[in-house]
Amino acid sequence: MTIDYMKLITNINEMRQFSSDAKKAGKSIVFVPTMGCLHEGHASLLKKGRKLGDILVMSIFVNPIQFGPKEDYALYPRDLKKDLALAEVNKVDVVFNPLAEEMYPDNFQTAIEVEKLNNYLCGISRPGHFKGVATVVAKLFNIVKPDIALFGEKDYQQLLIIKKMVQDLNMDVTVVSMPIIREADGLAMSSRNNYLNKDERRAALCLYTALLKGKDMFHNGVTDAQAILQKMRNIIEAEPLAEVDYIKICNVNTLDDLERIADKALLALAVKIGRTRLIDNIILSNE
Ligand code: AMP
Repeated sequence: MTIDYMKLITNINEMRQFSSDAKKAGKSIVFVPTMGCLHEGHASLLKKGRKLGDILVMSIFVNPIQFGPKEDYALYPRDLKKDLALAEVNKVDVVFNPLAEEMYPDNFQTAIEVEKLNNYLCGISRPGHFKGVATVVAKLFNIVKPDIALFGEKDYQQLLIIKKMVQDLNMDVTVVSMPIIREADGLAMSSRNNYLNKDERRAALCLYTALLKGKDMFHNGVTDAQAILQKMRNIIEAEPLAEVDYIKICNVNTLDDLERIADKALLALAVKIGRTRLIDNIILSNE
């Protein structure tokens, strides 16, 4: 099997058939699931993915079931033409872009819930979100049949949840995680950055400034989580356009709160800038 040009597949059965044929031909499949509106963060996953196997599949699917009723599903930025161009530059073989109606027909009724990891961070502020994520990723894995799938550490809790799902359900896929790609000034790249106006874009930098403050304190010997969290909160609260959802210092595997940082911790936050909710994180480590 050789692919001379990038394929765009919208039909689920066609995607399944493509992947079955590829496997029969002895090819490995690498998969990067996305919601489109691609940026350099996504591109970093594609570049790495291109090196890890024979056939690189990227999905573009804004998954309705991971959005709450008051969230931005309808508004979520979509730009298929631009996304296809970026996919082509990054040597994607297949873009899978299914319709929501085909993914979730009227009588759809199954869900996957990773029960404990769901009860932290974004799982608290966005009830049902990770159930929607786990369910769609499981569906996409069944359709695309990847050997390897790549996910970004930008969505750290999502990454842990996908890894746990794969382990618990004995899914035959290796999950590879990739570091956060940032703008030149440090803002983590995100499709939702498109919502920010000029003032909000400037204000959004407070997330990274707060994370760097936390990192700096840790490397200067502060291990008391509350002391670090308070300084970080002060930075965010000094920004009039920002409103804290959460700022947490937690165990990198379980997401349980830490009172004291021994060797390693996840510093994670979610902040609303105007109407836009942004997340970011950093791993603190002595290793
Ligand atoms: P999304 O389109 O936002 O669902 O993201 C698709 C994948 O790209 C997920 O695995 C994200 O974690 C990853 N991703 C998004 N933004 C970044 C970033 N700034 N750096 C690295 N990976 C990212």
